[in-house]
Amino acid sequence: MEIVKYIDESAIAERIDKLGKEISVEYKGKNPVVLSVLKGAFMFTADLIRKFDFTPEVDFIQVASYGNSTESSGKIEKKTDLTIDVRDKDVLIIEDIADTGLTIRYLIEYLKSLGAKTVKVCVLLNKTAKHKELQVDYYGFEIENQFVVGYGLDFNQKYRNLPYIGILVKE
Ligand code: 5GP
Repeated sequence: MEIVKYIDESAIAERIDKLGKEISVEYKGKNPVVLSVLKGAFMFTADLIRKFDFTPEVDFIQVASYGNSTESSGKIEKKTDLTIDVRDKDVLIIEDIADTGLTIRYLIEYLKSLGAKTVKVCVLLNKTAKHKELQVDYYGFEIENQFVVGYGLDFNQKYRNLPYIGILVKE
């Protein structure tokens, strides 16, 4: 496997700085629940929430749609659940990537069913061409339809620790 650098550390940091400011305007005076989607969003979440000038509650949920391949299985499985009651609260989903959009759609519906007051979505990477009419309120970068790893994103559980986003080139 070869990894080609696609979005470097400084571009990520710069973009997250701007996103943090934008999101801080939206949630000024509010205390939303930030819901980070494991595992892929852990690094993005850690960097992004440090840029917020409001005080969110932070929770995690683990869902899986990919097996050990680079294609979505089309089914979402909840592996761990929320620990915070989101009823009547503003919720901001933080996700690594919007691909088919299935995960985000599932989470929006789930949070609404739990009685969340508002649900907004922030993703680092947006494969815009892969999904239609998906609610993405904030995103870091629009990317082509290719499989990326690093900065939290894996291939077979590896490469999450890379500080940049790379494209996986199969030999
Ligand atoms: P969706 O439900 O939007 O099809 O896919 C969401 C999940 O699939 C993401 O949270 C991520 O775990 C995985 N995924 C989608 N595209 C990629 C990709 O290019 N690279 C990696 N590593 N995971 C991806």
